[in-house]
Amino acid sequence: MAHEQTIAELFARIDGVTLDGDAVIFHPEEIRVTGAVCDSTEHPDHFVVAAAFTATHPELAPDGIDDFAVGMGDNLEEAIFDATRVWLEGALLTIRHACKPDEECDCGLVDKQEMVTLPVDTQRPIVWDFYIGAMQGMGINDGDGGNNEDQGLMQAVLGVLSRELGQPRVIWVRAILTRYGTEVRAECMVNNEPWAPGIYMLDKVGHAWTGVSGMRMRRQFMVCRPTDRDPRPEIAAQIAERLTERNASLRTKRPWWQFWK
Ligand SMILES: [Zn+2]
Repeated sequence: MAHEQTIAELFARIDGVTLDGDAVIFHPEEIRVTGAVCDSTEHPDHFVVAAAFTATHPELAPDGIDDFAVGMGDNLEEAIFDATRVWLEGALLTIRHACKPDEECDCGLVDKQEMVTLPVDTQRPIVWDFYIGAMQGMGINDGDGGNNEDQGLMQAVLGVLSRELGQPRVIWVRAILTRYGTEVRAECMVNNEPWAPGIYMLDKVGHAWTGVSGMRMRRQFMVCRPTDRDPRPEIAAQIAERLTERNASLRTKRPWWQFWK
């Protein structure tokens, strides 16, 4: 069974893409994408498929952003289609937004936030654009929605992410949280590597979920992109104040960061 063929066929049906060997190119961002089915399971009444995807962009991600998605369907093709759809609507849409930092978009599907970090070893603040993708979910009898789960997985990891933001570099974060009964499985990757602080924070969120009688899975994807912008005047004043404090006392040698929308 040529599953890869199926993913390539799905991609080829998307408006505006061109084919390049076993990859497709999304325009106008020129994102190169490959996809492959890595696992499929047949259950009595449905199929589950796990598919791996890699997106490469010359500027944003020359080494590629690896991701995978799980899909369900009544048959194998439907399950592959579902996994592909999940990835296109979550990770790829977020990556596409991050490739166009100067374009304002009002599609409402990717949340753009501004963040400023002041790395400990420098006097120079970094202004970041965060592109936060949609919270995506899948569940079998996953309960009544439970408590506070719709805050988003990224909210849970933003606090510990500041330590990754000391240097201006592109960072992507992939979070997947699954709970089956009382069993919690948290996955968090930063730039294709498992990221322990994020896993720890997500695990806490998973244990705090209530009302899960079957399986609940949530996933979210984010790209953080450094900009050349200066902090806004009102923020610059706060940064100057904090710098003065920091220079006055060794005890305040902590990363300082703040959000803005
Ligand atoms: Zn948009």
